Amino acid sequence: MNSLWLENINFPKLQKLDKNLSTDVCIIGGGITGITLGYKLKKENIPFVLIEKDRVSSKSSGHTTAKITSQHGLIYNYLEKAYSLNFAKDYLHANQDAIEDIYNIITNENIDCDFERNDSYVFTNDNNKIDNIKNEYDTLQKLDFNAQLLDRVDLPLKSVCAIKFPNQAKFNPTKYILALINTFKDNIYEDTCAINISKNGNGFIIETKNGSNITCKKLVIATKYPIKDIPGFYFTKLYQETSYVIAITANTNIDGMYINCDTPKISLRSTNYNNENVILIGGENHRTGEKVNILNKYDNLENIASSLFNDYKILFKWNTEDTISLDKIPYIGKFSSLYKNCYVATGFNKWGMTSSNIAANILFDNIIEKKNKYTYLFNSTRFNIIKNRKAFSELIKESIKGLVTNKQKVKIQDYNNLENGNGIIIKENEKLVGVFKDNLRKNI
Ligand SMILES: Cc1cc2nc3c(=O)[nH]c(=O)nc-3n(C[C@H](O)[C@H](O)[C@H](O)COP(=O)(O)OP(=O)(O)OC[C@H]3O[C@@H](n4cnc5c(N)ncnc54)[C@H](O)[C@@H]3O)c2cc1C
Repeated sequence: MNSLWLENINFPKLQKLDKNLSTDVCIIGGGITGITLGYKLKKENIPFVLIEKDRVSSKSSGHTTAKITSQHGLIYNYLEKAYSLNFAKDYLHANQDAIEDIYNIITNENIDCDFERNDSYVFTNDNNKIDNIKNEYDTLQKLDFNAQLLDRVDLPLKSVCAIKFPNQAKFNPTKYILALINTFKDNIYEDTCAINISKNGNGFIIETKNGSNITCKKLVIATKYPIKDIPGFYFTKLYQETSYVIAITANTNIDGMYINCDTPKISLRSTNYNNENVILIGGENHRTGEKVNILNKYDNLENIASSLFNDYKILFKWNTEDTISLDKIPYIGKFSSLYKNCYVATGFNKWGMTSSNIAANILFDNIIEKKNKYTYLFNSTRFNIIKNRKAFSELIKESIKGLVTNKQKVKIQDYNNLENGNGIIIKENEKLVGVFKDNLRKNI
């Protein structure tokens, strides 16, 4: 099912690439990252094209919950311990700057996208997690950030501690993206999938599935998970996680944007749909490729809805993926030290609204060869030795788990014993095919 953001919007059908062309910059990927960068290149009249294999905003950026916040779960105490207080400070400022940059774009372009300032909360109902929240608060105090430590959140569920980030924001992501693409429609090619990238002197040739090639001086891979794996070795430092969302109407509203630091994960925010107040409930994450019962995932979210509200109606259900970086920091910048003039933005850890804006600014500065003070935080060729031994050993464990899960992803299975509500990959006429069995079917 579509998300509510995609249901109520008319994206123009854009041209498909049907001829070879040559340009300064080629962006691969029409999500919020590629689109924000395209908007910035257009403003400076830098020649570029953006290619999208499907329709713009049809993947994660059209299925997000679109909280615009520097509160990325509990991250600042981890950054202080694993890197340094200064690193945590710059990460905070990069994300706070991104909120303001999005606000400025919306104001300058006069975009009607339901942008609203909203407080953001991380909470727990587990007494053992209270210290984690207090440590986060301590780090934020050292950073002079006006976070607030609370005993509970104002929601009809149990909570024993919380931390509030005031004056964060939320918006309708597809209305925002539509306004940006309207500023550079002629530079975009939809239904145009990049299938191969090769070096061409200091630049690149991108082959597309349509048979046309693009020759460019600089290349940006904004495909959420990098499509060219070697020599970047991103598969050793990233994995994909699927999450689920239901959109409900309810008899009461919630004020604020919430996420817990417990398992299972619960994420909440409100929005407006057809003049009705709607609440988005997200969670039920798992590594993409793991065998799960999708219907159970939605049932579990519905159980949360029924525990929070007496009377509710489900309007939409959807799921989507995001890329998770093992060391919790996005990869933004040079694709690899072997690939001069090729850039990447990935590993947003489900905080892609601010991260995509940071990425667009850093990559724009890379392209025009200007220094950006936040580049070092997201260095995509990094192999940082994390100072904190516990965090480092967890990173190694996750890396090994990621490699194993990646292998499982392409395991070919037999569908005879497939249970209802499950999916697998099979081989059909020498092709890999995904199969899903819904809850009505007895046989395939
Ligand atoms: C359930 C959920 C909720 C979330 N909620 C929030 C939130 O509240 N706040 C927040 O900050 N973040 C949130 N996120 C994260 C955020 O949505 C993502 O990080 C962000 O949308 C990623 O944007 P992107 O442009 O990098 O990727 P995408 O939007 O996935 O765009 C990448 C594009 O590249 C295209 N592409 C791929 N391969 C090729 C190819 N070979 N050739 C051409 N095109 C190609 C794809 O079709 C796609 O359109 C959430 C994520 C999930 C899963």
